[in-house]
Amino acid sequence: MNISIPWVFVSGGSRGIGKGIVKMLATQNYHVVFTYKSSTSEAQILCQEIKQQGYSCEGHQCNVSNAEEVSVLSAKLISQYGPPYAIINNAGITQDALLINMTEEEWHNVISTNLSSVYLVNHAFLPEMLTAGDGCIIHMSSVTAFKANSGQVNYAATKAAMIGITRSLAVEVGRFNIRVNTIAPGLIDTEMLDHIPSPHKKKLLSNIPLGRLGAVEDIALTINFLLSPGGCYITGQTFVIDGGMTA
Ligand code: NAP
Repeated sequence: MNISIPWVFVSGGSRGIGKGIVKMLATQNYHVVFTYKSSTSEAQILCQEIKQQGYSCEGHQCNVSNAEEVSVLSAKLISQYGPPYAIINNAGITQDALLINMTEEEWHNVISTNLSSVYLVNHAFLPEMLTAGDGCIIHMSSVTAFKANSGQVNYAATKAAMIGITRSLAVEVGRFNIRVNTIAPGLIDTEMLDHIPSPHKKKLLSNIPLGRLGAVEDIALTINFLLSPGGCYITGQTFVIDGGMTA
């Protein structure tokens, strides 16, 4: 397939926040390439829906914590389309347990999916992006980076690390006009919240000044802004989008 519009890469685009980002950026006339781990039918339905609306996208099964899979997909995409205009490092999982009960497997699964994937994806695309001299990288952190959540030391470690990566990488690549920023969502209405027991969810909701869970569009709109000319002088920053939960 040939494309004549800029393209963007979204990890974890089959469901939840990633899906909202894919939809939003496609309507802004980017060719959106997204990955997923196992939700093939969700990915196919999403692509169909976007194409029926006259926009452009493609989904790839690619475990972004696997170096080989990222390397094969990124090489293919770069040879087909050149460097992406933007990378949205969104894929993430939780495997919650109190530290004293957390298995090594739960620790490593979350670190590799949420954090090592960021290194792998950025490392794969950045050299070509630097040559292009214009682009954005977004990391999907969480308010858990700032506000304690019992049972989430693995998740919190990855989300806090992204803020540090963002600041250091912004300094490394600023002279190539690549902007690097982080989004830290609060409670966004996706399947990731399904495991939170209802009474606890109610309590969390009562701590949100805007009185509602966030919608995936709330996150996608900010990303759209950061990719637009409005975001051209913003780099190294973290944007908390949480309805005031951490105010
Ligand atoms: P979600 O509904 O569970 O969706 C996760 C997405 O990531 C899916 O598309 C999933 O693919 C993909 N994914 C997971 N592991 C992957 C891997 N190894 N390789 C490729 N893709 C993978 O999650 P969400 O709520 O939208 O969260 C998205 C991001 O926002 C995460 O980084 C999360 O930590 C962050 N966040 C979410 C909230 C919230 O309240 N929802 C709050 C703060 C931060 P499959 O469909 O194939 O599994």
